[in-house]
Amino acid sequence: MKDPLLEFSDKGIYCPKADVYLDPWRPVDKAIISHAHADHSRWGHKKYIAHEHSVPIMQHRLGDIEVAAKKWGESFSINGVRFSLHPAGHIVGSSQIKASYKGETWVFSGDYKLHHDHYTTPFEPQKCDVFITECTFGIPAFRWPDQEQVMEQIRNWWQQNAANGVTSVLFGYSLGKAQRLSYHLNDAIAPLLLHPVIYAHNEVVHSVKPLPMHQKLDQGVDPKAHRGALIIAPPNTQDAQWLKKWEPYKTAAASGWMATRGARRRRGYDTGFVLSDHGDFNELNTAVRASEAESVICTHGYTEIYSKYLNSKGIRATTADTPFEEEPNES
Ligand SMILES: [Zn+2]
Repeated sequence: MKDPLLEFSDKGIYCPKADVYLDPWRPVDKAIISHAHADHSRWGHKKYIAHEHSVPIMQHRLGDIEVAAKKWGESFSINGVRFSLHPAGHIVGSSQIKASYKGETWVFSGDYKLHHDHYTTPFEPQKCDVFITECTFGIPAFRWPDQEQVMEQIRNWWQQNAANGVTSVLFGYSLGKAQRLSYHLNDAIAPLLLHPVIYAHNEVVHSVKPLPMHQKLDQGVDPKAHRGALIIAPPNTQDAQWLKKWEPYKTAAASGWMATRGARRRRGYDTGFVLSDHGDFNELNTAVRASEAESVICTHGYTEIYSKYLNSKGIRATTADTPFEEEPNES
């Protein structure tokens, strides 16, 4: 049997022919990065290659790194292996990584979604022989409602809270979800305040993809003067001290996990909105079919269940262990 074009090593997804890693989790000489989330874009590599929109975000998060910027569809060769990046629709700059050598093509999806969020560049399916896919929400229980419907639910929730003099605190990841919320909740809601971590991310993302710049929730913002505001904050600040001075307030999370019974209660939110930057079960199936791949490798999420499901449908699928997270903990 010939050597595979990509393999799973203890440092990351490795291309031996090109001596390059995709989203490596240990320090390496050369890394091609699918997107700027912390579990895919780590500190400590000598050289990075990433989509041009990911570059300033990676620099914001990782500091002074050596990184080569690529456009979508731009082909580049390393030791005879052709690589290119293609939109993954997950967050700004997020890309599938395609590798081709002697007529064989592999695609590593990174994280992705197929439904268009009207902010991030939409997913573009790529045909390949082997498709390496995430399956964060790879069971049929996950089916996403229409985005506009969810935004309407959020507006109504805020409106009701505001009418009662209650502040609305909405938790969403600082990279991805926060920009999507900032973009779509722009018109109807005022005042809309951004936690400083989210404000900083919005500033950077704005430099590659314009966003409305909402007010930053800094020390000088007086809760009394902003009663009934909507605050967007990162999930890991849910128990932080700053929330106290906004009482009375209600909390909500915007996440795919809010589709499951009990997840909202377990995580201590008053309300949950089903909004994900990952694809639901149907989207995963659509992506797998569109790739026309002979075999599929599932990297993170419901890997066992989803690979069995694909096998039952006649698509050869296996799993691989990676430290990619289903829900990255962000700082
Ligand atoms: Zn991600």
